[in-house]
Amino acid sequence: MDLDELYREVILDHNQNPRHRGHLDQPTVTVGLHNPTCGDQVVLEIRARDGVIEDVAFSGQGCSISMASASMLCESIAGRSVEEARALAEGFPDFLTGKRDDPPPGEWEALAGVKKFPARVKCATLAHNALKKALADGALAPKAAPGS
Ligand code: ZN
Repeated sequence: MDLDELYREVILDHNQNPRHRGHLDQPTVTVGLHNPTCGDQVVLEIRARDGVIEDVAFSGQGCSISMASASMLCESIAGRSVEEARALAEGFPDFLTGKRDDPPPGEWEALAGVKKFPARVKCATLAHNALKKALADGALAPKAAPGS
């Protein structure tokens, strides 16, 4: 199996078995974003406590790139710190737009092929942009303990 095939497998697998697809009972933040170029819609629900993302879910519909990326994003940030999530939300779009050379840790190399197609970059980063919006909300940020 060559690398291209391997990457296709990763994307296909996330489409067929999406991780964290659905809804949370009590999300801290819910954000939706739409990519009009392709018609993709992604809604992210995040529950965070003490600076840690306890759980995350996505819903929506769109092309295989946008849905695989949302599934990969949820898998990557579940159980991680808000700061790690922020690093991914910024790092992956920076990788696709050439601002950094290496993809963030995980399976992100599988989506590196979209670099050549600016319209598809919007599909691949839709979930990341939704995450950025969620992080900008402030509700996910850890609250400093009094006196520390
Ligand atoms: Zn798309």
